[in-house]
Amino acid sequence: AFLDAVAARDGRIQAFLHLDRDGILAAARNVDARRQRGEPLGKLAGVPIAIKDVLCVQGQPATCGSKMLQHFVPPYDATVVARLKQADAILFGKTNMDEFAMGSSTENSAYQTTKNPWDLERIPGGSSGGSAACVAACEVPASLGTDTGGSIRQPASLCGIVGIKPTYGRVSRYGLIAFASSLDQVGPFTHDVTDAALLMEVISGHDSHDSTSVDQPVPEYTKTLNDPIRPLTIGVAKEYFSEGLDPEVETAVRLALKEYEKLGAKIVEVSLPHSPYAVAVYYLVATAEASSNLARYEGMHYGYRTAEKADLIGTYSRSRGEGFGKEVQRRIMLGTYALSSGYKDAYYLKALKVRRLIKNDFDTAFAQCDVVLGPTAPTAAFKMGEKTDNPLAMYLSDIYTISCNLAGIAGISIPCGFTQSGLPIGLQILAAPFEEEKMLRVARMYE
Ligand code: GLN
Repeated sequence: AFLDAVAARDGRIQAFLHLDRDGILAAARNVDARRQRGEPLGKLAGVPIAIKDVLCVQGQPATCGSKMLQHFVPPYDATVVARLKQADAILFGKTNMDEFAMGSSTENSAYQTTKNPWDLERIPGGSSGGSAACVAACEVPASLGTDTGGSIRQPASLCGIVGIKPTYGRVSRYGLIAFASSLDQVGPFTHDVTDAALLMEVISGHDSHDSTSVDQPVPEYTKTLNDPIRPLTIGVAKEYFSEGLDPEVETAVRLALKEYEKLGAKIVEVSLPHSPYAVAVYYLVATAEASSNLARYEGMHYGYRTAEKADLIGTYSRSRGEGFGKEVQRRIMLGTYALSSGYKDAYYLKALKVRRLIKNDFDTAFAQCDVVLGPTAPTAAFKMGEKTDNPLAMYLSDIYTISCNLAGIAGISIPCGFTQSGLPIGLQILAAPFEEEKMLRVARMYE
């Protein structure tokens, strides 16, 4: 049925970059056969799950949305993929994304532009736009994306579905092609909070292949999900209702807060005074890390190689010039500059200090409340091409999601209404590190 949905709709949506129909059918038949033999099956037996093309699935292409990795077929599974397989899920194709996960609209893919299923003239958000769109279009029940500065929560918000950015270290990054290693996390896209809790149960946990994954027990999120948090204190930060927030989005979020009050929640004002610096800090830290992570793609060891004959340096620069798109090149230049001698102290190191202040803000806030609530994105889905010539306007799409990654805390976006023109609006719930269980329960209360 899901393959049929893809055949019927994906020509217009263009969420998938790669889909192995025969492999999917074979995997599904295998689960069926085991079910018939009465063998014990995993938590996700037979459930199709799409995977963002930044994650390695053994034997399937992993292009990262880039010409640079056009022919890369990983010989191993990312840990999250291995865990899905262990749970007997059906790996269901690779989804489109902004090149190397850099972007907020999925317009930076080297291959195709994914459309928002709610309005095909609009973007699905990004960078995990393919993973969000295929769930929203009911081509799959769930998918995995990655979130470095909002790339799960923002597209979830713009596509009217649920998306989670787990605490840094909660989910293994092994087999995730790195963008900014201190910010990247893998997380699920689903139709509801219950499915998201189930996926979190499967993909979370310590992994000896990723030294930044944390060895803390993984709660059975689905067990406690339906127990409301009482008493519940919700923090609201005035910094999350800033200039540039669309009035329709603000109204929907304030209505959601009223709903929580009706459910007995106490609303308190918290202060996140360093939030106005988050976008600036992020674009120094993320680009610095990206410039270093992407140095490996020089056409010799890794990645696309130019057809032009040149000497070593010439081959490097031509390969990189031809293999990387404009946005990736812009980020590599910014990051290299921020790390270069003479500028490192003024930019990169200073950004790290402000990053700590942003984290401290959250520590103070979470001492006063259980979760922080606000909008996920300042506007609903925008039109294709609207921000492609203005990188700064594009960067501001992540104004409310970025601090969560800088602070390493957990965040979820859930649907909370529609604009007058029928576009979905998302509500963001932020929780302290490793408080996913509480975050999920609070999200579930609203459903
Ligand atoms: N939109 C942000 C960026 O372009 C975040 C991307 C992400 O989370 N991968 O960097």
